[in-house]
Amino acid sequence: MKNILAVLFMLIIAGQLQAQKDTVRFTVDTKLAAAHTIGITMSVPVNNKAIVDLKLPVWSPGYYQVMNYGKSIQDFSVKDQGGKVLTWQQIGNDTWRIAAKGTKSLTVVYTVKTERAFVATSYIDKERAFIKPTASFLHVDGALQLPAVIDIPLQNGWTRIATGLDSTGKTTYRARDFDILYDCPILIGDLQELPAFKVKGKPHRFIGYKMGSFDGAALMKDIEKIVITASNLIGDIPYEHYTFIATGPGAGGIEQLNSTAIGFSGEGLNNPAGRNRMLSFITHEYFHHYNIKRIRPIELGPFDYSKANRTNSLWVGEGLTVYYEDLILNRAGLMNKREVLDAWQGTIQGFENNAGRLKQTLAQSSANTWEDGPFGKKGETISFYEKGPIVGLLLDIEIRSASANKKSLDDVMRYLYNTYYKNAGRGFTEAEVKAACEQMAGQKLDELFDYIYTLNKIDYQKYLSKAGLSINFSEEKNQKGELFTKVVLSENVNMTALQKNILGSMLQ
Ligand SMILES: [Zn+2]
Repeated sequence: MKNILAVLFMLIIAGQLQAQKDTVRFTVDTKLAAAHTIGITMSVPVNNKAIVDLKLPVWSPGYYQVMNYGKSIQDFSVKDQGGKVLTWQQIGNDTWRIAAKGTKSLTVVYTVKTERAFVATSYIDKERAFIKPTASFLHVDGALQLPAVIDIPLQNGWTRIATGLDSTGKTTYRARDFDILYDCPILIGDLQELPAFKVKGKPHRFIGYKMGSFDGAALMKDIEKIVITASNLIGDIPYEHYTFIATGPGAGGIEQLNSTAIGFSGEGLNNPAGRNRMLSFITHEYFHHYNIKRIRPIELGPFDYSKANRTNSLWVGEGLTVYYEDLILNRAGLMNKREVLDAWQGTIQGFENNAGRLKQTLAQSSANTWEDGPFGKKGETISFYEKGPIVGLLLDIEIRSASANKKSLDDVMRYLYNTYYKNAGRGFTEAEVKAACEQMAGQKLDELFDYIYTLNKIDYQKYLSKAGLSINFSEEKNQKGELFTKVVLSENVNMTALQKNILGSMLQ
């Protein structure tokens, strides 16, 4: 027994030493903040290779646009283990080919020129730095599995760092591999932190830049309810800690495994509509750590960072996340039934007034988002943020109705999470989502799935009535005198026991 333990111990130590030897180290320099430039020093083991390709991703998971981050890399230089300057050439936007000539390790120095404060790009000014790792940290081609250590000395009088990375020192962080590094944006500055809370022993922090004046403790109480409700829905909290990173006023949010980076201002929280919008947004980004990061289309991970990763299933990853925003807020007691019905009718109205619904299917809107842009081209295409939650709502009602309200879309989400993420360690296929929905409903759902793959006109009333809801369409004129289709969703006065039961279990 003792010998086995000793051998195991030695193996562990040997493994750690090997990991240390293979670790890629980055040091971040923020002194050039006034010039909107981030300095990076990278030391990387290359094990005597003659030629080494260093690469930068062309996109970031969660933002389905080719960004060509490599264009922002400047002042590139590289030395061998002995400090001798090596030659290199840039190939395309995203590859630096280095004549390494058999050295053991490289020291690479470069800067990242930043232009736009946005959650999918790096940005630095005199007040803060937001480091988007996909836009900033090079990797050795074919070696995403290497561990990385990131040292971020605090400069410019800055006091705090917010990131989902595990820390190994006051300003030092570690990533098990480059998929984790690329999943963890970093905000540095004189940041403000709201009172943290724990759910099932896991700490949840909210740290941000220029958050404005608002009741931070009240916001965190609401977010705690959102986290409890979402984690009860799936039945598991898969991370050790979670960080909400508020990058400053402005739009946009991107989800990660244990953090989200969101444009945020607390100023709008004092009016009810603004508060609902912000809480919906936060719920959306938070729920994504389940739906799209872990319950994920099989095409979205392991990621190929060198090109667009196309999937037909953003209606699940994005659309159902939109659908669950309202349900989670309602279950958490933060949004009442009428407010949810208003949100649904607004979504249906938006979709029914977009001529794109006659030109592009839901699956196409997902696959083509790389060309159409994140929200589509109004009149020409549709948005999976709009038709996705509509199909989600109808699916949820149909599963509940067909199963005498014993099953729901929640069971589908739990099934996908447990079967494909937890047990199989992979994403789901399109066929597997349909099969999971049909398993819960106990019947085929071809007509509903045709709403994903065809331009068929949606028979709203057929499905909504099963939850005791009526939908009314009328032609109205807007303020400019243009005709539009107005949608009103209402609860029926007389409902069967099952209808009442279904609506009652969907919304409080
Ligand atoms: Zn989203």
